[in-house]
Amino acid sequence: MPLGGCGEFGRNLTVYEAEGKLLCVDCGGQIPDDEAPGVDLFIPDFAWLAARAGDVVGWILTHAHEDHIAALPHALAVAPAPVYARPLTLALLRESVDQSQLRPFVPGTTRQLGPFSVEALEVAHSIPDACAVVIGAAGRRIVHTGDLKLDQAVTRPTDLGRLRALGDEGVDLLVADSTNATRPGRSGSETDVARALVAELERARGRIAFTFFSSSIQRIGTVFDACARVGRKVCVEGRGLREMIAAALTVGALRPAADLLVDADTAATLPPSRVALLLTGSQGEPRAALGRVASGEHPYLSLGRGDTLVLSSRPVPGNERAVARVVDRILALGVRVLDAPALHASGHAAQDELRELMDLVRPRTLLPIHGARRQLFAHADLAEAAGVPSFVLVDGDVLELDERGARLLDERVPAGRVSLEGTQMGDVDGETLRARRRLAWEGVAFVADVGGRMRVTTMGVAAENVLPALIAAAEAAAEAARKDPGSVDVATAVRRAVARAFLAARGKKPRVIALV
Ligand SMILES: [Zn+2]
Repeated sequence: MPLGGCGEFGRNLTVYEAEGKLLCVDCGGQIPDDEAPGVDLFIPDFAWLAARAGDVVGWILTHAHEDHIAALPHALAVAPAPVYARPLTLALLRESVDQSQLRPFVPGTTRQLGPFSVEALEVAHSIPDACAVVIGAAGRRIVHTGDLKLDQAVTRPTDLGRLRALGDEGVDLLVADSTNATRPGRSGSETDVARALVAELERARGRIAFTFFSSSIQRIGTVFDACARVGRKVCVEGRGLREMIAAALTVGALRPAADLLVDADTAATLPPSRVALLLTGSQGEPRAALGRVASGEHPYLSLGRGDTLVLSSRPVPGNERAVARVVDRILALGVRVLDAPALHASGHAAQDELRELMDLVRPRTLLPIHGARRQLFAHADLAEAAGVPSFVLVDGDVLELDERGARLLDERVPAGRVSLEGTQMGDVDGETLRARRRLAWEGVAFVADVGGRMRVTTMGVAAENVLPALIAAAEAAAEAARKDPGSVDVATAVRRAVARAFLAARGKKPRVIALV
């Protein structure tokens, strides 16, 4: 049962049931887009799991990306059970999850969780310590890939030998990453990216800045090593990067040379050719380190003529404009901006790799996960061409597996998204968001009766030179309504009059609220 991640990106959560027990794989958040301004994060709806809390035998986290772990603390509050994950993931959870719940999950080993046998399998992804999960229960075998790519040039590549052996033994269902199912070819190699990053670092004369996803530990390690070699200090700016690096240091995934890292105020005093900056904000976030450098608002760091910025990540779909805005600002400062395809590689298998994966595993059935419908259907098309039947599900659908094969049940489990905003969970509904978007487009005008005189206050409305006309309209409408109590009430009359006055003056009206 996918409770998140099927039909849209993020919020990944898949639940497996056998003999009345539940095994949960991943528990991610979803970063809100422009449609949900103000919401901090969306998480899966845990109501169904809460009702079955006593049946949950464990949580397995395939890797430490936010779209796979961010919702876990909230899930554990309603369905507590041991959490199995690899060291980097455990290190990142230590702050938010009760340590006594955390258990190591070691590739090549199998453990029994209730009726489920669960094996961790090494996979390559854009963050270290990623794994796939091999689940056995009721005589059936499932391979759940998590996020993966088949890049074999990395230190710990995807365990193709084990995948092939599983294929020989027989796999009933392959539950696989669809993120890049629309992209032809292969996802590109981290080793080639490392080579390109080092080449730019060696070529650069002035300051050089890098931006990538905080979880690009391998690229961070590459920059650390190369900087130590060419005699540049490294300054890391931005909370996401600092937290990820701290976690990577504790598990030994990064080993920078002694004295390599410097603070921003020290970096500002070093000659440009002696420093490299690692900045958050690869997705164009204006408040992140790169965004602040771009707008000249960073207290210590700046970039200018003679400096270089290396963009080592692609914009996530939907973020293209935000990234373009920041890049334009940086270019206006005279900075050389490098964004060649060689400087980034996706962490997700593209079409050739997905075909190879199906050839290795030879599943009886494919279940595409991790994607909007476009990606899920593209993955299903690849499966069809390979002669593998597949099911495209949406969150809440239930796929049943028995000796005859897989079939979609009529029943569904409740699945949806729940907002996190400030300290509150689930209180921002569709209606609230519609109102927010409307206000963003229209602005708002308040009309109040203060001590017998009308006052008009606007937010987000260009109303400066129409204010006297608005106030006059409000006063006239209030007076008329008071004289004729049989017609509309005063507040409604004032609201309508002010809206009409706006239309007459500007050809457009904001949302008007009358407190009279
Ligand atoms: Zn991932």
